[in-house]
Amino acid sequence: MEKSEIAIVWFKRDLRLMDHQPLCEAMKLDLPLLLLYVVEPSVCAAPDFDVRHLRFTGASIQDMNRMLSIPIRPLEGEMLPVLERLCAQYTIRSVYAHMETGNAITFTRDRSVHSYCREKGISFLEFPSNGVIRGLKNRKFFHQRWEETMRMPLMDPDLRHLKQVDVPPDMPLFTRFPAADPRFQPGGTSVGWRYLDSFLTDRKRRYSRDISKPLAARKSCSRISPYLAWGNLSMRQVYQRTLAAMEQTGDRHNLRFFISRLHWHCHFIQKFESECRMEVENLNPGFDHIRAVIDPDRIRAWEEGSTGYPLVDACIRCVRATGYLNFRMRSMLVSFLTHHLWQPWQAGAHFLARQFLDYEPGIHYPQFQMQAGTMGVHTIRIYNPVRQSHEQDPDAVFIREWVPELAALPLPFVHEPWLLTPLEQEAFGFIPGISYPKRIVDAEVTGRFAREELWKMKSSDAVRKAVPGILKKHTSGSPGKR
Ligand SMILES: Cc1cc2nc3c(=O)[nH]c(=O)nc-3n(C[C@H](O)[C@H](O)[C@H](O)COP(=O)(O)OP(=O)(O)OC[C@H]3O[C@@H](n4cnc5c(N)ncnc54)[C@H](O)[C@@H]3O)c2cc1C
Repeated sequence: MEKSEIAIVWFKRDLRLMDHQPLCEAMKLDLPLLLLYVVEPSVCAAPDFDVRHLRFTGASIQDMNRMLSIPIRPLEGEMLPVLERLCAQYTIRSVYAHMETGNAITFTRDRSVHSYCREKGISFLEFPSNGVIRGLKNRKFFHQRWEETMRMPLMDPDLRHLKQVDVPPDMPLFTRFPAADPRFQPGGTSVGWRYLDSFLTDRKRRYSRDISKPLAARKSCSRISPYLAWGNLSMRQVYQRTLAAMEQTGDRHNLRFFISRLHWHCHFIQKFESECRMEVENLNPGFDHIRAVIDPDRIRAWEEGSTGYPLVDACIRCVRATGYLNFRMRSMLVSFLTHHLWQPWQAGAHFLARQFLDYEPGIHYPQFQMQAGTMGVHTIRIYNPVRQSHEQDPDAVFIREWVPELAALPLPFVHEPWLLTPLEQEAFGFIPGISYPKRIVDAEVTGRFAREELWKMKSSDAVRKAVPGILKKHTSGSPGKR
């Protein structure tokens, strides 16, 4: 029997139907389309992947399915064998997808899909995502081009004209998406819009004031990061909605502040797109020989939230339980790991990638390196976890919630339980090392040590030699890598 001709729209981290160029382009073909999502064991087994990501993608697809007459039924398997099996059933003319600035696994996979399609005479068409440019030659006009892309009309397909085919009956379906968990933001475009709209109309009021506070930021920041990371919303949709809100509300201060973060989102991904070795290697190799000794006990204490520093422990426990932490607290966690515990950033990057519901490789690795000071081109920031605690959670409401062992202590001991005298310890029934861990290090001492070491390194020949290349690559005319 003759096989029927189809085209495939392959969804990855672009789980939406509107402002979706691959879908719009594929619909121009006038062929039946298979809307494909594949749950790949190699991606799920990677050290940066967590079940919370799978839950989010499952909910996102469910949300898309509400608008489709034939629902997307996710398949299970590696992409190439899946494609091979689909080729046995259909004559596939083209595969349409967004370019993904992913980790090494998905990048290698995309390359093998390219080769396979070339071999089989299938056209594989990839479209840029969120203004990030593959093979960018020159960073000089990046922001101008980004602005232009963000102001272009949305690419919304008319779904009434969508002709679909279903996955063939004998293909392995993936049906084990975890059930909803109320502690996490649910996936899906509809929820993404609700978060964005409630921010733009109301929650934005205290945005710039609360952005660094671990508790208040949960409400005053937009919380749209997972919806951008998994593509439930496109950056263009968010940008245009924000400009409209600026017109309507006149709140220029907070919304300009917000738009600058939207820029950062793509600025960081572009960095990673151009230099993906950042996933594993120091951007500046001059730092390769510091923090050479891995201390598993220190890493375990950091991951478990038992370092003896209340704000650090509260943040770790909170992000493990909810998948979210604001920017300043993420920075402080990396600073604590790399500066105070003097561990390489690589020792914590996968762990936090698994915790962040919004895990986006293109932001995650450059941010990790920036906070760890291994780029050699930024001011080194070493956060004092005690000062952060007093400044960002002055009444210790956040700490008390996540470190209940300290809840009964009055201020300032809840920030610094080591200040309790033996008499006070007895009065509060607090036994250091039993009620709550003793401090793993003295942050005054470790902060001083890290500052001296890093400044020494920063002015070393090895680090300075690499700086012009880094600046050239990421700020002016430099060849992109992919
Ligand atoms: C070590 C470390 C790792 C990080 N990993 C990720 C990650 O995997 N995924 C991720 O989306 N963000 C990451 N960030 C950036 C930032 O912390 C989050 O984007 C932000 O906290 C998300 O909350 P929000 O949506 O309420 O942000 P808002 O403040 O409301 O900002 C709106 C959007 O702007 C973007 N944005 C905000 N701050 C930054 C920033 N500093 N850099 C780049 N983009 C930004 C995000 O897309 C965010 O959703 C990381 C930061 C650090 C320090």
